Amino acid sequence: MKLDLNIQPLSSWIKTSSEPLLIAGPCSAETEDQLVATAHLLAKTGKVSALRAGIWKPRTRPGEFEGIGSIGLKWLQRAKAETGLPTAIEVANAKHVEEALEAGVDILWVGARSTVNPFTVQEIADALRGVDVPVMVKNPVNPDLSLWIGALERINQAGITKLAAIHRGFSSHEKSAFRNEPMWDLAISLKTHAPELPIINDPSHITGNRDLIGYIAQKALDLDMQGLMIESHIDPTVAWTDAKQQVTPSALVDIIMNLTLRKPEIRNAELKDKLAVLRTQIDKIDDLVIQKMAERMQIVEQIGNYKKDNNITILQVNRWDEILRKGVDYGKALKLHEDFTEKLLELIHSESIRKQTEIMNKDKAGQEADKLTHV
Ligand code: PEP
Ligand code: MN
Repeated sequence: MKLDLNIQPLSSWIKTSSEPLLIAGPCSAETEDQLVATAHLLAKTGKVSALRAGIWKPRTRPGEFEGIGSIGLKWLQRAKAETGLPTAIEVANAKHVEEALEAGVDILWVGARSTVNPFTVQEIADALRGVDVPVMVKNPVNPDLSLWIGALERINQAGITKLAAIHRGFSSHEKSAFRNEPMWDLAISLKTHAPELPIINDPSHITGNRDLIGYIAQKALDLDMQGLMIESHIDPTVAWTDAKQQVTPSALVDIIMNLTLRKPEIRNAELKDKLAVLRTQIDKIDDLVIQKMAERMQIVEQIGNYKKDNNITILQVNRWDEILRKGVDYGKALKLHEDFTEKLLELIHSESIRKQTEIMNKDKAGQEADKLTHV
């Protein structure tokens, strides 16, 4: 199904200062100094095309920092006047829209918690009627493509043609290394429904972890997403919100410099290809396999410590035989070749043994050292 959206190209409303298009700034505007100083550092990188900052923050529980509020609009005006960077903020109701427009904010976005609620989206859309401002719509918190599409349609039908989607990942009950599962297939599906709709990836909210931002950003570019929104703070360790996922402006430059840009023709051709969709599914499974291995090894570590404390041998042949037999049978039932399952389990097992040996030896070395210090 092709969506009936009336959309202007991204280049009509944002000047990309350097590829890839990058919108960056703190999760929240906290103080005038923090915002303005961060904006200056970001502008100096030459890689940032717009400054983001949350001034009204949707928080899970009352009493948490809910954003600095309207006063932040003045700080954004100052940041823009001093750096030339256009500004972008989240709006979650009609009053936010009115205040943002009055303050001359350049780009608005609808947050993930608003996209889930058609009443809220409609209220925002109604407030935008007759206004020519770019709007970006984050995916809903839950993995529901229709809600995302519905929100984009509501905003578009209010007359907003400078429109983009932001892919910020989805809540999932699966334990994962990510704060929000990327579920790339949903973003690809949106692209298939509306090929002209720009999609901007938000690796900060997907990962929730600054160390993984580059990895997700690269995947987004490989999938032909049109830009990135990354949270950057002058001193992330003391950030009032989302401290673990924010990066300093200089760390942001490192992330961007390490990205490989693909040629657009190849990217487009690849994306249209069914193969790309299948590959994404495989990548997702590979990510899961690696995550699960990491979880397994953490448990192995606990077992290693337990065995050490209780003087139990590392290798317990009966237990290993049982794992192998059960695993191979299970694999066979799922149509995996016997040799493959056996090799896979052997590899996992040998890493588990190596890890436990390390724990035992560490202990021995520790005891030796203790003995020496006690002589
Ligand atoms: C944000 O961008 O800081 C934010 C609140 O994001 P999301 O709506 O994706 O949770
Ligand atoms: Mn945030």
